[in-house]
Amino acid sequence: MKNITVVGSGTMGNGIAHVFAQYGYQVSLVDIAEEALINALKTIEKNLQRQLKKELITQEVADKTTQAIQTSTNLAESVKNADLVVEAASEQFEIKKKIFEAIDQAAPANAILASNTSSISITKIAAVTNRPDQVIGMHFMNPVPVMKLVEVIRGYATSNKTTQTIMEVSKKLEKVPVEVNDYPGFVANRILMPMINEAIYALYEGVSGVEEIDTVMKLGMAHPMGPLQLADFIGLDVCLSILNVLLDGFGNPKYAPCPLLVNMVTAGYKGVKSGEGFYQYTPGTKDLVVSPRFSR
Ligand code: NAD
Repeated sequence: MKNITVVGSGTMGNGIAHVFAQYGYQVSLVDIAEEALINALKTIEKNLQRQLKKELITQEVADKTTQAIQTSTNLAESVKNADLVVEAASEQFEIKKKIFEAIDQAAPANAILASNTSSISITKIAAVTNRPDQVIGMHFMNPVPVMKLVEVIRGYATSNKTTQTIMEVSKKLEKVPVEVNDYPGFVANRILMPMINEAIYALYEGVSGVEEIDTVMKLGMAHPMGPLQLADFIGLDVCLSILNVLLDGFGNPKYAPCPLLVNMVTAGYKGVKSGEGFYQYTPGTKDLVVSPRFSR
């Protein structure tokens, strides 16, 4: 495997391109938006500088990483010589369906098509292609250059060979791949999202405050970040949509999103990305300030 195409250059796509390029792969990074590609290259440069400062990589690796990434807005052209395509476009099935139909047409017959989806069924994505045995989930964690885990999701039709190849490629990126089957939320979000939802319920029911709930989980359970801060970081809209996937997929009311979460998302309070969620985020400050709506 040599040529990797990453589709979607947002939060996850730029990190995925960065990591593949850092470990010696040739990367073509594709997006529909030229601006997203420009921003992705800036972010990759910033993250390489951080790795250099921390002496995690040498200047030579940083230079080679930058040189190994080409950008494009032409999907068909970019997958023409791909050995592996990793899709990290927006989390909507209709968008992923169009992308997988297009890459299935344009990519070499032996190429593996992976999706970084957090919650959409790999089996459903694979079914829009003519190579469902070569479609797989490659769920990286945010921030990709830092986080070690790759959740490798086998769709119903994914072959052993495809799974084995992706497990090996993940190890070449010095990640730790974990194989899971394709059920709603896979493993990571099936466990994480009910925990976040329960933390929001505890706040909603007045059991305790934002800082208190996060402190219990940080100091009591050794979590590096409390569940409410983590929800802000992931995006409250993303948390809501994953809970709805769990609710729809299992038909079990235990996954029903807390009404407070629904209200916050409806009102546009999405966490870090919108400037406010359970905490307030002011550019240029690192202090964690609880939103005045939740001050006690
Ligand atoms: P994002 O919104 O930051 O980026 C998505 C990018 O996809 C945008 O730049 C957009 O222009 C591009 N895009 C949309 N339609 C496209 C198309 N047809 N062709 C090419 N590019 C297209 O999203 P993100 O947070 O990077 O998430 C991407 C994927 O990764 C989603 O499936 C998400 O569920 C998954 N994921 C996200 C996180 C996270 O913490 N953000 C973690 C794990 C997995």
